[in-house]
Amino acid sequence: MDDHNNILIIGAGPSGLTLATELTRRGINCTIVDKAAGPAPLHESRALAFNARSQDILAASGVTRQICSAGHTIDQIRLCWNGSISKEIPMLPIALSTQSENTDAPSRPDNNQLLIIRQGEIERILIRHLDSLGVQVQWNTELADFTQSDSAVTATFNTADGATNNTTASYIIGCDGAHSQVRTKGGYTFDGESDPQTWTLADATLKDTSLAHTLIADLRPGQAFASIAIEDNIVRLIHNGPNILQLHPMADRCTKIHWQSEFRVSYRLVKRYHRGRSFLCGDAAHIHSPVGGRGMNLGIEDAATLAWLLETEQESSYTGLRLPVAKKVLKMTHQQTTQMNSSSMISSVAKKYGPKLLSIPYVNRSMKNSVLGLDTPTPEWLTK
Ligand SMILES: Cc1cc2nc3c(=O)[nH]c(=O)nc-3n(C[C@H](O)[C@H](O)[C@H](O)COP(=O)(O)OP(=O)(O)OC[C@H]3O[C@@H](n4cnc5c(N)ncnc54)[C@H](O)[C@@H]3O)c2cc1C
Repeated sequence: MDDHNNILIIGAGPSGLTLATELTRRGINCTIVDKAAGPAPLHESRALAFNARSQDILAASGVTRQICSAGHTIDQIRLCWNGSISKEIPMLPIALSTQSENTDAPSRPDNNQLLIIRQGEIERILIRHLDSLGVQVQWNTELADFTQSDSAVTATFNTADGATNNTTASYIIGCDGAHSQVRTKGGYTFDGESDPQTWTLADATLKDTSLAHTLIADLRPGQAFASIAIEDNIVRLIHNGPNILQLHPMADRCTKIHWQSEFRVSYRLVKRYHRGRSFLCGDAAHIHSPVGGRGMNLGIEDAATLAWLLETEQESSYTGLRLPVAKKVLKMTHQQTTQMNSSSMISSVAKKYGPKLLSIPYVNRSMKNSVLGLDTPTPEWLTK
């Protein structure tokens, strides 16, 4: 068996689909399976932000252009304190370069383009792209267990017709989300904590299109409300508590609710991303608050990094490259979320006056780099 040419990917979410795309682009054979019958319904998409780092990563396969064409740009971020505007931050619209050698790469003279697109749309674009390359996701195929030897892994699957079958591969990559079987069966630890607070989200049609390209964060003592434009008159409303449709300042402008969901925020991280012939990518390795929109993007970056390491036979460097990045993002989202949830006097002062600091160029640039996912080291292969 060619050690680097028989890769088994568990999970066809954004991480697994990116890994399959990047491995195929690099000429490495892979099999990708998912226990679901197909991608999750489009209107139940969790992630929305496709950040600049992910745009750069998927440009090489030609997928960024398709995602940018299907997405919706954010032209300004509006920060509010108690419902009053504190600061408006302009963002540049995305312009795909027609001049650079790689015509799919977004041109970013100012590094500040933010694209909103439903996670389910990204998944569908990647599935179609893989299909065009002759790689099909094997749906209804659930990893039950796996064992590994010095030279191979053997995975056991349950299929929809009740059958069990075994497959042998050189490596198994767990892109199977927060409740990863690869992580559990592979003996990884996943330590961390959970916030007691329940958050709510609602995707809704608004009466008008005045906020068509705007992201609003409205902070109050102990409370936070956000709204993110998904389409001209469709927004995602988010609240760090229950009863979003009663409490959110935009609720009375909604004419139709498409999806509502509750979730709890947890922070968990593996100690290593790699044990023997198993590897982890995305939510299988790290989960954190959705504040900042980093989860899916971090998984896309894990997957593309691992594909490059497998091609160049440097896979033993994987933990060393990705663990510090996840630690940084977890720490940052934890601090931001704690600040949002706090009702202390100090936090109220910070929330009220903090946006004024964005007039300082360095602070402004740091904030934009964080929103765009450009605040962690640029992956080595992207700099070449
Ligand atoms: C409310 C909310 C909002 C969010 N907003 C954002 C955002 O704006 N930006 C952002 O970047 N992130 C966001 N996230 C996080 C983002 O949704 C996740 O980080 C992302 O889905 C992780 O992708 P993944 O491919 O690693 O895992 P998943 O998307 O969870 O995919 C895992 C796949 O593995 C499959 N699977 C699981 N177990 C098995 C098994 N045993 N065998 C076979 N298949 C299996 C599942 O069916 C699934 O398809 C948000 C999350 C939430 C909850």
